[in-house]
Amino acid sequence: MVNYKSIKLSPGLYFVSTPIGSARDITLRALDILANADVLAAEDTRTLKKLLEIHGIKLKNRSLISYHDHNASKALPKLLAYLEMGKSVAYASEAGTPLIADPGFSLLNEVLSLENNVTSAPGPCALIAALTVAGLPTDRFYFEGFLPNNKSQRELKFRGLKSYRGTLIFYESAKRLNDTLLKATEVFGGDRGGVICRELTKKFEDIKRGSLNELSEFYCDKNIKGEIVLLVAGAVNPDIEQSAIEQNIKDALKSMSVKDAAEAVALAFNVPRRDVYQLALKIKSVGD
Ligand code: SAM
Repeated sequence: MVNYKSIKLSPGLYFVSTPIGSARDITLRALDILANADVLAAEDTRTLKKLLEIHGIKLKNRSLISYHDHNASKALPKLLAYLEMGKSVAYASEAGTPLIADPGFSLLNEVLSLENNVTSAPGPCALIAALTVAGLPTDRFYFEGFLPNNKSQRELKFRGLKSYRGTLIFYESAKRLNDTLLKATEVFGGDRGGVICRELTKKFEDIKRGSLNELSEFYCDKNIKGEIVLLVAGAVNPDIEQSAIEQNIKDALKSMSVKDAAEAVALAFNVPRRDVYQLALKIKSVGD
């Protein structure tokens, strides 16, 4: 069965989001665009070819142009020439959403300066997938992308974000995770909540929640692999009403154990779990 249809695309550039793991995480509209664009462009042409094959889309005699950070000076003029000719050009990065810690920004700027049409076929994005399942507040968040390789610059980045109140989101490599967790524990404090989302949407998807101390301890002797999003709870809001925390603990205790209630409320209010646990124990003993 083919999941795309034949359509006539308007001229312009189409940023197409592609799966971050599971190949079926692609929208029907993204498939329509990939099947019907006059020209295809990709950060990694082999990955895109494989995706087309999985979804039964034929390249036919269309051009598939490689466009990434290292060949932009050569590839960009080719893509712009097609757009100037009134063609539809679909661009996909290796995985996820183009421009999000991925190439595409200079392409977009050039296209905008020539007043060509740009549209997005939205879809998978690792930071959003991670935020969705982490259990940390989602109303305000800061996405840093990849931290610098240099250790002192990484520390500087963390220090700059220490008092930010929203959830912090970083892309991280498996081999650097331990170092990063140690530094995060040192700068943000071991009681801060954190979440490691590894291999999202893939067979070995793995999500670990805990304090930065717990996460550091857990990962320090493990040689893990795969793709990772690290989330750190935002700074504690000193204005939080104690009564609101107490009420939430009471509500949570109606259906949860003390431990689970403490964990849920600590995450929701972004306050140390230890303190909430003590309070939950007290509330439970009074209630019993
Ligand atoms: N453009 C992509 C997006 O929309 O998320 C991100 C590309 S960036 C080069 C790749 C990084 O994203 C990985 O190193 C990892 O930090 C994160 N990532 C991508 N896929 C992931 C997955 N399935 N699980 C966890 N993290 C992932």
